[in-house]
Amino acid sequence: MSMRKYFEKTDKWVVTFRYPLEPLEPPKELRGKPEIDPDLCIGCGACAQACPPNAITVHTDYDEGLKKVRIFYGRCIYCGRCWEVCPEGAIKLTNFFEMATPNKEDLVYEVVLPLHRCPRCGNYLEFTERQVHRAYTLLTRLPEERRKELLERMFLCRDCRRQVFSLEEFKNRRRDKYVQASQTPF
Ligand code: SF4
Ligand code: SF4
Repeated sequence: MSMRKYFEKTDKWVVTFRYPLEPLEPPKELRGKPEIDPDLCIGCGACAQACPPNAITVHTDYDEGLKKVRIFYGRCIYCGRCWEVCPEGAIKLTNFFEMATPNKEDLVYEVVLPLHRCPRCGNYLEFTERQVHRAYTLLTRLPEERRKELLERMFLCRDCRRQVFSLEEFKNRRRDKYVQASQTPF
């Protein structure tokens, strides 16, 4: 069948689009601009770890007490890895694809989250308040004993944890020594 006959039969005379002179409706399945929901993001950084061209970066500012998850669309290759790995479902792939802009700053989006403060020394931890809260909710699935043990540690910074638990261990050892000594016959 000649091409002319084929097109006469199928009514498909138009094989190109007038885009960008006319708007183009992208297919629903198109993997376009990924968007981070600032209300769902906990700042875990899994998306940044998975992003092949480093379009997503995470910066922790201990002076301001903030964690910044930044996406630069100028580097994005629309692979969807960030969407796959996000544990909170905070990333959604839209079918928006028209990203051209004369201003580079238009291609940047940032989620800013407060860091958790150690209740003992007041220093900021590397985790956000949301991450700690998330971990806390996960603990409810554990048996009571194990949960208690972890709860004592999870809100403290590394230094305080070390100090508190080495002090406790020291006390325990001293107590064991005392018990041992008191049981030793003269
Ligand atoms: S993986 Fe999801 S929750 Fe974690 S930083 Fe990225 S967007 Fe936020
Ligand atoms: S779609 Fe791919 S390239 Fe774009 S931000 Fe997500 S992981 Fe990075």
